[in-house]
Amino acid sequence: MRRLITGQAAAKGLALGRARVCEAHGLDISEERIEEDRIDDELARLHLAIDRARDELAKLRDRLHGAIAQEIGEFLDLHAMLLDDPELLAGFDRLIRDEGYSAAYALKLQRDRLVAVFDGMDDPYLRSRREDIDHVIGRVHAGLQRRDSDAMEGLAGDVLICDSVAPSEIAQLAERGVVAIVTAQGSPLSHSAILARSLHVPLVVGAHDALGQVNDGDAMMVDGRSGEVIVEPSAADLRRFRQRKRESQREQERLALLKKKATRTKDGVDIRLFANAESREDVAQAHDLGAAGIGLYRTEFLFLQRSELPDEEEQFRVYRDVVLGMRGRPVTIRSLDLGADKADKTGLALASEPNPALGLRGVRLSLRHVDAMRTQLRAVLRASGYGPIRLLVPMISSRDEIRRVRREFLDCARDLRTEGYEIADNLELGAMIEVPAAALALPRMIGDVEFLSIGTNDLVQYLLAVDRNNDALGDLYSPLHPAVLRLLHDVIKLGQKHAKRVLVCGEMAADPAQTRLLLALGLTDFSLHPGSMLEVRQIIRESDHHALRRRASTLLRAPDREAIERAIARL
Ligand code: PEP
Ligand code: MG
Repeated sequence: MRRLITGQAAAKGLALGRARVCEAHGLDISEERIEEDRIDDELARLHLAIDRARDELAKLRDRLHGAIAQEIGEFLDLHAMLLDDPELLAGFDRLIRDEGYSAAYALKLQRDRLVAVFDGMDDPYLRSRREDIDHVIGRVHAGLQRRDSDAMEGLAGDVLICDSVAPSEIAQLAERGVVAIVTAQGSPLSHSAILARSLHVPLVVGAHDALGQVNDGDAMMVDGRSGEVIVEPSAADLRRFRQRKRESQREQERLALLKKKATRTKDGVDIRLFANAESREDVAQAHDLGAAGIGLYRTEFLFLQRSELPDEEEQFRVYRDVVLGMRGRPVTIRSLDLGADKADKTGLALASEPNPALGLRGVRLSLRHVDAMRTQLRAVLRASGYGPIRLLVPMISSRDEIRRVRREFLDCARDLRTEGYEIADNLELGAMIEVPAAALALPRMIGDVEFLSIGTNDLVQYLLAVDRNNDALGDLYSPLHPAVLRLLHDVIKLGQKHAKRVLVCGEMAADPAQTRLLLALGLTDFSLHPGSMLEVRQIIRESDHHALRRRASTLLRAPDREAIERAIARL
């Protein structure tokens, strides 16, 4: 029977596939013993499944590139190492040969034993690694269940329905041909969502009813743009799907014509569209789409899912590749923004904080670990010898923070020049404006930066006191609030007065529904994911900049969200 489930749109795209419902962690396998004459076969079956899992991990590792490879590679290596653990392997053999258990039950017993060991650890980081046990054992179990003829089938054509999805899993699922993902939890601003957009996997999050309403094998229609998920679609739904697919295809073809077109309004005002990037693919796409440069390179993706900090050489190579990939267009590297929801395993961020979003994150964390910060600054500076590069500092809340970073930046540049490296002369430093205090104190800080980038994802969260990752507050989290518009307008205006470039790099800049609003507020520099670049360019090309600017005061006078939405509709 047809069922409609709604969630929040997190990565656009239309998909039709069959449901694959993920079990919550843990294997639900009841005790099972086997006859003595089946023991050798059972052992062989288990070892085949282990080999297959090892093989899958190696293949996946080989196919990853850029920052995603850094982020996920360590995680995959750890899983491969677990599969080679002699104690784990000997345990399986003993359970099957001596105790007569089935391979599946031996997997469950070993999983439970290891999880109990991890649960008993004092160190919260090590305790959190129990997840890895579940992933590895789950992978072997999946291999065990599969008949040989199914081996290649994997997840191709499936819509994955699960409680939540980790950034590391997104890349793997995309690899295996999953056509869309629907999660019961999650937020469109999460890092999983950012990766799904980067990898073009339609994603709907916060679909609370999904796990209860969907059965394995149900036909599923997912619209990642509207957040609509239809289980067992009707004939009319299928017709609508085909029609939307055709429209979206035509739209893509129309948009593709804009790749080489200027981002200029109808009345001749040039607007710059920079790209947000996390991977080498994003950089290539940004270049191909005619981005003005990279406006935000999130370096934390290099640090996630690994226990050792990337050294200067490794970071330098990644940043240099980004600079080379943009072939002379400016690249903005953001210094490390770990902490809060960007959970860290390197030991830099605090393992637990009473209130992580208000805790030691971004520049605060960097300034507590000056050595790690200097390693990153040196890597960025070395890359500056290969093309234009700027440094953007996240979570600035006071002038003192930016001054301290600049001192270290200049000091590292001096050291590197002495060591004989080629470093650019004009080193630009910018502040992310995402803490309301920085926006309000900006008149007294603006002389200390060369440019500004407004991080609306965090600015909205901190200004409205609404957690960006809490889907229960989804209705309250919106940039369409008079306080947000006022701050955006004031920061843009102040930047223009002081001839400092102001970008918006939060998700608001990528939302075509907000493009005219941002133009009306005076924004000329957007930084957005490449996936939205052509759509936003099209809107800009259809807009009359002067007419929009004249509407700014009406927008700023609107008392609430409804009034702002009405005013936007009239723009
Ligand atoms: C922001 O806060 O708007 C931003 C761009 O940074 P992030 O989403 O990485 O916190
Ligand atoms: Mg931010």
